[in-house]
Amino acid sequence: MDFAVRPEMQQILAGIQQFLEQEVYPLEPEVAARGFKALLPQLRATREKVKKLGYWCPQIPKDYGGMGLRLLEHGLVSAVLGRSTLGHYVFNCQAPDAGNMEILIAHGTAEQKKNYLEPLLRGEIRSCFAMTEPERPGSNPLWMETTARRDGGHYVLNGHKWFTSAADGAAFAVVMAITNPEAAPHRRASQIIVPTGAPGFKLVRNLRVMGHHGEDYASHGEVVFEDCRVPQTNLLGTEGAGFLIAQERLGAGRIHHCMRWIGICERGFDLMCRRAVARELAPGKPLATRQIIQQWIAESRAEINAARLMVLEAAWKIDNFGQLAARVEISCIKFFVADVLLRVLDRAVQTHGALGLTSETPLAAFLAGERGARIYDGPDEVHKMVVARQVLKKYGLQIPS
Ligand SMILES: Cc1cc2nc3c(=O)[nH]c(=O)nc-3n(C[C@H](O)[C@H](O)[C@H](O)COP(=O)(O)OP(=O)(O)OC[C@H]3O[C@@H](n4cnc5c(N)ncnc54)[C@H](O)[C@@H]3O)c2cc1C
Repeated sequence: MDFAVRPEMQQILAGIQQFLEQEVYPLEPEVAARGFKALLPQLRATREKVKKLGYWCPQIPKDYGGMGLRLLEHGLVSAVLGRSTLGHYVFNCQAPDAGNMEILIAHGTAEQKKNYLEPLLRGEIRSCFAMTEPERPGSNPLWMETTARRDGGHYVLNGHKWFTSAADGAAFAVVMAITNPEAAPHRRASQIIVPTGAPGFKLVRNLRVMGHHGEDYASHGEVVFEDCRVPQTNLLGTEGAGFLIAQERLGAGRIHHCMRWIGICERGFDLMCRRAVARELAPGKPLATRQIIQQWIAESRAEINAARLMVLEAAWKIDNFGQLAARVEISCIKFFVADVLLRVLDRAVQTHGALGLTSETPLAAFLAGERGARIYDGPDEVHKMVVARQVLKKYGLQIPS
């Protein structure tokens, strides 16, 4: 394994860290106090600065206006950006847009690229991804209800989705819907681009998640499709390829998420250490002199280091051998790093006492925003099952279909 990166990557990472500290960290308490929408003008201005510095869309090939980083390199960038609640958004590599950009590059027609990809890459519009349904288990998306029926030159969509992150204010949704009900389970669904202004697309509400009402990019929507009609040219890739394309976006997506979580861990760790040294229990007796706090710090350091190496290994394997070869590693990092993330954040909050629950630090926002890490992109239990099955197959386990 070789995690060595080009020397200029060190400069890029230092430049991005400096930019975050100077331009992005100061916006965090503003967003916490006034909401995402109110800060859009400042966020747009900050995004323009990122473009000028050449850090825009780090994961996107240079031909498409990005930095052209390979997965491992983008992973390192992601770990720096993750330190801020706003980092990925400001650099235009935020989920779900990043995944939508990648699948549009890989599968979009010339017309789809012009109408949807290019404005997304320029940061003029946002998008969302609608797969999960309230009435069906998201952990088994093969059992899905939303349909897209061919009608003349159109698809007519009917269905109910939720947790469509960032639907509020998005220009289009990439929707998973059943187009071929008679096909084998993995070939039944397709991905279809649905403009949010299409007749029959309805954003019912932004869900309140962990007490937050959510708005604009920082939201999770409930969406209904009622005889929603879009041209058949809005099909992404081929009919029945929906799950295949979904798998493509998820492999790289999990590296992005896990490295973002490493970034959150580092920020939490930094805040925990600062507080442990600064907060005195009695004159001359800082918290950091207590053994339990030292234990949290030591354990957190070890866990973050281990998690980081695991993610880099998975990214290296995908870069060199493809996603299928890294199936076990991808599932391992998904549950392992999510667990480290929540443990480190919890210790950081505990070290801050009541202050840790306020919006005076980003810890509470991280904690509320990331409890979902053990659920989205596949719950822990499903990833553990994938890992165990792959391992046990080698020991002769016959897996019932
Ligand atoms: C913050 C956040 C953002 C999200 N964003 C999006 C988005 O943009 N687009 C989108 O389409 N979806 C999104 N989702 C939805 C997410 O993908 C689903 O929540 C996830 O797939 C789990 O589905 P579910 O919630 O229906 O849980 P269920 O499938 O009902 O599962 C419930 C619980 O059952 C357990 N479980 C499930 N399967 C197994 C098993 N095989 N063995 C043992 N236990 C099991 C797990 O503990 C799981 O948490 C998001 C979710 C969150 C929390």
